[in-house]
Amino acid sequence: MNKKTIRDIDLKNKRVLVRVDFNVPIENGQITDDTRITAAIPTLRAIEAQHPRAIILMSHLGRPKKGPDPQFSLKPIAEALSKLLGQPVAFAEDPISDAALHQAEQLPAGGIMLLENTRFYPGEEKNDPELAKQFARFGDVYVNDAFGSAHRAHSSTEAITHDLPAVAGLLMEKELNYLATALDEPKRPLVAILGGAKVSDKIKVIESLLSKADKVLIGGGMANTFFMAQGRQMGGSLVEPTALDTARDLLAKSSAKLILPVDATIADAFKNDANTRVLKADEPVPDGWQILDIGPATIEAFRAQLADAKTVIWNGPMGVFEMENFAKGTRAVAEILADLTAKGTITIIGGGDSAAAVQQAGLADKMTHISTGGGASLELLEGQTLPGVAALQDK
Ligand code: AMP
Repeated sequence: MNKKTIRDIDLKNKRVLVRVDFNVPIENGQITDDTRITAAIPTLRAIEAQHPRAIILMSHLGRPKKGPDPQFSLKPIAEALSKLLGQPVAFAEDPISDAALHQAEQLPAGGIMLLENTRFYPGEEKNDPELAKQFARFGDVYVNDAFGSAHRAHSSTEAITHDLPAVAGLLMEKELNYLATALDEPKRPLVAILGGAKVSDKIKVIESLLSKADKVLIGGGMANTFFMAQGRQMGGSLVEPTALDTARDLLAKSSAKLILPVDATIADAFKNDANTRVLKADEPVPDGWQILDIGPATIEAFRAQLADAKTVIWNGPMGVFEMENFAKGTRAVAEILADLTAKGTITIIGGGDSAAAVQQAGLADKMTHISTGGGASLELLEGQTLPGVAALQDK
């Protein structure tokens, strides 16, 4: 990585303003998955080891539409972080107030404070330089560790880098190293697995991976559009007529690399207890039936395709994994990757649904790297530069 990190800058007695990604799921005031909080801890510990004056954290949470909204408050996260760190974490309710600045000044040496949701201010998503100046009052140095937000040019990720010396945190560095190295100098064979609902959302990802990977395995609803492009009858399956030409082009250009499912689990309704059947991929899907998962022969075919892979990148579920009966393909891929990791293959899971599926299967610690950023990892896979990264100081 060619960006400066917290290892390249002196933080002693500095006020270190850290943009973290604490955008965690919260239900009824309870954090249901704290992965993103724990992922920031190595950076916080490494900053503490440099004896800063104070560490001020900021993050967004959810999508509040009209200013401050208690259901999107970061307050429960300050409490959770305090428990994880075993030390107090102060909380500033209104980061653009002088009271909050005063509160920061009162922190003990090395003390930690979390600022309220950056998206409570409309300037945040507009990359407003004035709001960035308000945030910048809290720091002498700015650290961006929010990989999951790095694909957005917002006040707290981009504009602020014009006010303070700006470097990457350790999570940001780790994410970029894994994802960029896997794409630019992979140990080969490099195999990509793509799934999810739509081709149209991931056209650039498919194109970019077809140019870099040795094979691209396609599953999930996305495969349906490729099947339809091959002239197959798809019954009530999710297909995207507007992406048919793209699918045809991709098949024509890259048929040797692009591996489609050989069978499918079909259902007579979009519900967990629907009747199901396994259908070969070249059999027509009957009217009233739809493909909701890859089938057992595809699982075996994908296992064989992956057997000699040295690097695997996976983004997107193989079926409607939210329903137990259609999660088998996704779970099987997670298990195949866990076995490969144990044999030395580098396995990288893009954020979002595939990361959730790996967690659900209890296999999170069996992968080489699980990205904390769904959108950001997709944009990296597309070959794009992330604005929050581009804005940091070069080495
Ligand atoms: P994405 O956000 O594009 O990664 O898509 C994830 C969504 O795709 C999940 O909510 C899955 O339920 C859905 N999905 C995967 N396979 C299928 C399928 N065969 N039919 C309909 N939806 C699917």
